Amino acid sequence: MPGNRALREYRGKRNLRRSGEPSGGRRGKRRKPIFVVQKHDASSLHYDFRLEADGVLKSWAVPKGPSMNPDDKRLAMAVEDHPLDYAEFEGIIPKGSYGAGRVLVWDRGTYSNQTERDGKPVSISEGIQNNHITFALHGKKLAGRFALTRFGKKTAKQDKWLLVKVDDEEADKRRNPVSTQPESVISGREIGEIAEE
Ligand code: MN
Repeated sequence: MPGNRALREYRGKRNLRRSGEPSGGRRGKRRKPIFVVQKHDASSLHYDFRLEADGVLKSWAVPKGPSMNPDDKRLAMAVEDHPLDYAEFEGIIPKGSYGAGRVLVWDRGTYSNQTERDGKPVSISEGIQNNHITFALHGKKLAGRFALTRFGKKTAKQDKWLLVKVDDEEADKRRNPVSTQPESVISGREIGEIAEE
């Protein structure tokens, strides 16, 4: 199980029995790492972008969501690692809990890491340490290469990145899945239709 230490911040912020969110006890063996994007109608609506690495989901909150237009630079605030089984979570985090509000699985699939440093492949974790990662997504809505690049100074309170579509064959300036495909890829529901299970 991914280190209790790795998810300490995640667990510390939540009463998991109350909120019904995953605790992160499970860890399956997978060939390809997964990604998930969760639309989260919390105090402000945002998209949580998560990549599997080192047995957890590395996570960023993206206020405007991902774009298929390489001209768009989307602010992505790094947040605490989440457990792998969080990728399955769709439902309501109850009032009074951390991140209270509706959560919908907006896209998910696998990804391949394409991060390099000095021309050599490096892991996602090493890329994160070095302020830049590149990866190709294989989702239902998102496809092709994306890059995440840290900007500004990382502090204990703030770790800002930019999420940008790499200009490849999947790039499309006219396609805007955040507005044209708002539904869940696992239930077909829109955010307002998410109810208590
Ligand atoms: Mn969130």
